[in-house]
Amino acid sequence: MKATIIDGKAIAGNLRNEIKLAVENLKKQGIVPGLGVVLVGDDPASLSYVTAKEKACEENGIYSREIRKPASLQEKELLGIIQSLNEDPAIHGILVQLPLPKHIREEKIIEAISPEKDVDGFHPASLGRMMTGQDTFLPCTPNGVLQILKSIGASPAGRHVTIVGRSNIVGKPLANMLLAKGEWGDATVTVCHSRTPDLAEYTRRADILIAAVGQAQLITPEMVKPGAVVIDVGVNRVPDSTKKSGFRLVGDVDFHGVQEIAAAITPVPGGVGPLTITMLLYNTVQSAQRVGEQAQ
Ligand code: NDP
Repeated sequence: MKATIIDGKAIAGNLRNEIKLAVENLKKQGIVPGLGVVLVGDDPASLSYVTAKEKACEENGIYSREIRKPASLQEKELLGIIQSLNEDPAIHGILVQLPLPKHIREEKIIEAISPEKDVDGFHPASLGRMMTGQDTFLPCTPNGVLQILKSIGASPAGRHVTIVGRSNIVGKPLANMLLAKGEWGDATVTVCHSRTPDLAEYTRRADILIAAVGQAQLITPEMVKPGAVVIDVGVNRVPDSTKKSGFRLVGDVDFHGVQEIAAAITPVPGGVGPLTITMLLYNTVQSAQRVGEQAQ
C-alpha cells in the first residue's frame, strides 16, 4: 500500500487560522505583532525565503519590516542594525536570513539578537532553555516537524527516531525536542551525519525517519523500514529544462520509491516548508503576546 502523502500546506493552514485569531486579539489591545527581516547579499534562495516569509506575515496581519543590505556590509554595521531592532518596540521578532557573507561571523550576529526577540530560536540562550525543558522560542523547522507529527497522530514516544543531519538549526535541536520528556518527546533518538558509516543500518531501524541533509535522493527505499513515517526536510534544486526557472525543488528522499514502503511521507515542496514559515509567525505572535502580558 502506498504511503499517505502528508499535506504540509493544510496543516500549516489550520495553524495559521489560529495565528490570525491571536493577531486579531492582540490588535484589540493595540498591539500589532512586528517582524524585522534582515537580508544581506543577493543569494536567490535567501531572497525567495525572505519574500515568502514577508508574504506570510502580510497574509496573517503581522507587520514586517525588510532591511536589505549589500553583501559588502560590515559586521559592525549589521550589529548596529540588530541593536536598533532590539530597541524598537514595534518589532517583536528579528530574523537574520542565513547564510551570511563569509566575512560576517554568524554566531556573533545571532548572539546579538535579544533572546526576547529571537523568533528563529537560534540564540544560545533559547537553545539552552529548550534543552533544559524551559519555556522558550522553539526553532521553526524542528517545531514544524513536531507539528506535522502531532497533526498525523504519530507520537514519537517510545519509538525509534533516526535523524539524518546534525546542524544547529535542524538536526540537533530536533533531536533534543524529541528526547524531551512528555507525550510529544520520549523518543529514542539516533542522529546520523556525514561521518556515519553505513547510514542505512540506522535509517532502517527508524519508526520515524527524518532527513535534513541537503542531498537529493540520499534516502532510497532500501534504507526505509516498512511502515515508517518519513519526514523530508531537505530542499535541493535540481536542473529541469521544463521549468521556466530551469530547476525544480526536491527533498533528500527518493519520494516515489519510498512512497511504496513508508506509511506516511512529506512531499517537497509542500511538506515541512510551509510549517517552518508558520512557526516563525507563531513565535512572532507569541513574542507580541508576552509584551501584551507585561503591559497588563
Ligand atoms: P547543513 O548543511 O547545515 O547540515 C547538513 C547535515 O547533513 C550535516 O550534519 C551533514 O553532516 C549531514 N550530511 C551531509 N551529507 C551527508 C551524508 N551523505 N550522509 C549523512 N549525513 C550527511 O544543512 P541544514 O541542516 O541547514 O539543512 C538541511 C537541509 O534542509 C537542506 O536541504 C536545507 O535546504 C533544508 N532546510 C529546509 C527547511 C525547510 O523549511 N523545509 C529549513 C531549513 C533547512 P556533517 O555535520 O558531518 O557535515
